[in-house]
Amino acid sequence: MKKIIVVCGLLLVLFSRLAAQELKINGPDGKLEVHLSLDQGKLYYRVDLEGKVMLEKSPLGLQGEHVDLANNLRVLDSATQVIDVHYQEPKIKRRNVHYQANELRCTMENDVKQQLVVIFRVSNNDIAFRYFIPQVGEAANLKVTAEMSGFKFPESTTTFLTAQANPMIGWKKTKPSYEEPYGLDEAMGTASKYGVGYTFPALFHVGTRGWVLLSETGLDASYCGAKLNEGTKAGLYKIAFPEAGENNGIGKANPTLALPGYTPWRTLTVGNTLKPIVETTVPFDVVEARFAASKPYSFGRATWSWLEWQDGSINFEDQKKFVDLSASMGYEFVLVDNWWDAQIGHKKIEELANYGRQKGVGLCLWYNSNGYWNDAPQTPKNKMNSSAARKKEMAWMRSIGIKGIKVDFFGGDKQETLKLYEDILSDANEYGLAVIFHGCTLPRGWERMYPNFVGSEAVLASENLIFTQQANDTEALNATLHPFIRNTVAAMDFGPVLLNKRHNRENNGGTIRRTTETFQLATAVLFQTPVQNFGITPNNLQEMPMHVIDFMKQVPTTWDETVFIDGYPGRYVVLARRHQERWYIAAINAEQKAKDIELQLPMLSGGPLQLINDTDDRKSRQETVRPKKDKTIRLTVQPNGGALLYGE
Ligand code: CA
Repeated sequence: MKKIIVVCGLLLVLFSRLAAQELKINGPDGKLEVHLSLDQGKLYYRVDLEGKVMLEKSPLGLQGEHVDLANNLRVLDSATQVIDVHYQEPKIKRRNVHYQANELRCTMENDVKQQLVVIFRVSNNDIAFRYFIPQVGEAANLKVTAEMSGFKFPESTTTFLTAQANPMIGWKKTKPSYEEPYGLDEAMGTASKYGVGYTFPALFHVGTRGWVLLSETGLDASYCGAKLNEGTKAGLYKIAFPEAGENNGIGKANPTLALPGYTPWRTLTVGNTLKPIVETTVPFDVVEARFAASKPYSFGRATWSWLEWQDGSINFEDQKKFVDLSASMGYEFVLVDNWWDAQIGHKKIEELANYGRQKGVGLCLWYNSNGYWNDAPQTPKNKMNSSAARKKEMAWMRSIGIKGIKVDFFGGDKQETLKLYEDILSDANEYGLAVIFHGCTLPRGWERMYPNFVGSEAVLASENLIFTQQANDTEALNATLHPFIRNTVAAMDFGPVLLNKRHNRENNGGTIRRTTETFQLATAVLFQTPVQNFGITPNNLQEMPMHVIDFMKQVPTTWDETVFIDGYPGRYVVLARRHQERWYIAAINAEQKAKDIELQLPMLSGGPLQLINDTDDRKSRQETVRPKKDKTIRLTVQPNGGALLYGE
């Protein structure tokens, strides 16, 4: 399925000790450059794009118990190679990827001859770097005490960041879970809500020069998940480790790395515009599959009763209604959420699975990750946290044809918790189950590393639209952030497309939707994850205009290509995605007034397209339109509204 070609060792940088002050590596088109330098025994890097400084002299290095790989460094040698990889990954924003980069490996040595290898890969708009640490004397592992790795932004930079939460707060002490709001265009060094730094991904607006997106990838249980510290007003953000209290205090905050070993990749996507930020595939370019798929996994659409109908819908009769809804929409799955073991029971789930099978709808089941790391009472629990219980449950699921699991409520970013994610994914693959995580960390390259990984929440997701009016009042604003930040680095299980006007079971009470139906449809394209758990309910079939339901019947969840068209985080966004021959162009507007946008769509054939748009009185309507000869189309997008174009 995947074809990988690596061309190695084309160049060896000739390196003279006398000239050891600076090394340079650039991307294939020569525009993005990383400059490595040593200054009084400390290692730094700088990033330029087309000659403009995007990241100033920023620190590198790492310290462990009895090992200082941050001071008294000198360069031993360096080498470059050309990376040229083709791969195919159906779960991300683009199916076929051609990754081309130049790699620099720079071997450093400290005053007691301990080595640190710094590896940079630079493509046209992405930089990935990591450390390789050879064995240090007898020691087969390194207890890492600190990383110097940092990012020093130029003066005029503003930030789009989301805070890391304190440990053991929120719903039944389940945080941190990457469910915090973003600050928009904030000054550098702004104190975060909890004072424990910011989570990846992190977007920086480097004034008129462009944009930098920071993230992390290739993370597994060989290290902990990192975050950014609070940053300084002068613009220096540094890598920080989890808080000691995460995961109920179980497991260490700092990572211990087996030697020889690699740290995860830290990534910078760098652009003059937002286009490279939205289109990047770097989280997947630099990682490889950790195991082979035990079967071909399939992806698609699901309905999900819990979102609008909540816990009361987790009963046999209501679940049958949602199986029927999925069947009438032509969807592949239904997601049965928390308490199913208590309110339906394992025996009746078998019956539901049989009912689904007759209708061509597969079941996915919810689990609590707990354990002993939080107080979330929802069951089933104690099924996913130990190998014996997990395999027994998974064997039962396989025997009745369950398609996947959704596991909720994890305890943070420690190595201890990452081991649980990895163990669940690995065991689930043995039993042919696909996996979604909720109440969880950001997945870092996992779509490609784990063939049965589908997507993660790690966002203030659609459940908040049911919980608070404020989430509805800011729905459009938040939706314009995700294509630039959270969702550009990983599949996002947001649970989009809620067509009820009021968010309760009867569609007559609860919170009020502020956005239009067209806006909701647009999020099915804007938000990317290979299995979408849509928020539609049986009543929508009767209440919605035919074209709304028809669109939802045919919208795909996997994409051959993704192209940024226009937008600004927090204001509006227009994105084009292609599935086979058909393009889907989705626009949403979070501003206070209607927005006129001229779209440049050179990829289109020029033939007729379907346009779904909002009327002035905010009703959804569909018409056939034709782009102009120059492949442009002018659209008006209502405030809190959307537009969709689709065709070839
Ligand atoms: Ca959640």
